[in-house]
Amino acid sequence: VSSEPTSGKEFRDVVVLDVDDTLYLESHYVASGFRAVGQQIADQLGCTDFADHALRLFRSGVRTRIFDRVLEEQGVVASPELIARLVTAYRTHEPAIELAIDAESFIARERPGRALAIISDGFLAAQQAKIRALGVDRRRFARITLTDEFGAERWKPNEYAFRLMQQHFGLPPERFIYIADNPAKDFVAPNSLGWKTARVRRSGGLHRDIACFPPPHLEVERLDQIAESMLDRLLGRQ
Ligand SMILES: [Mg+2]
Repeated sequence: VSSEPTSGKEFRDVVVLDVDDTLYLESHYVASGFRAVGQQIADQLGCTDFADHALRLFRSGVRTRIFDRVLEEQGVVASPELIARLVTAYRTHEPAIELAIDAESFIARERPGRALAIISDGFLAAQQAKIRALGVDRRRFARITLTDEFGAERWKPNEYAFRLMQQHFGLPPERFIYIADNPAKDFVAPNSLGWKTARVRRSGGLHRDIACFPPPHLEVERLDQIAESMLDRLLGRQ
């Protein structure tokens, strides 16, 4: 996905946002995906309450083989083909998700000379569907980069997408800030390139309890707690 083809050169600094658990709650996407898969299961196999079971497993911390486990519980032998079909259904469904209210107001701000952009990881079709559902493609983002367009080896923490962003805007690294939620992968590249970083620790976020080292330049629970004056200071405008 690329939004309007701006040259990128008319900005003084750039606020780059992650998507999952930064602009909306990822658990809402997961629940939406389970419902989509559950619909298929109900249609094909007559099993009901798949989504509830799957969500219960997810909430208890299970992250692998959720579909197999739920089907097993329901007495269905899950062939690899069936699982593959369900994974595709999950990744390609049109998700019922919306921007967090604080993200909405953060995005809507007027900020002369300051660009908004996105760098997001994940399977391309899934991330594109999220971008559509959130409506961010139609808003004020000068650039949207989905790392999967360049292959799985360029997912975060790889620096590639961050370097592309620098090239697009033609600005030095200290004029960029990356706002994201996952200490395990989000801040590695920005830190090594010399960007500023802000961590969003949303209530209900999947990675909110992970320790972050080195600490980000800012840490907030909601995007609307990041004032433009804080960004001015961090990005060297004053
Ligand atoms: Mg995230």
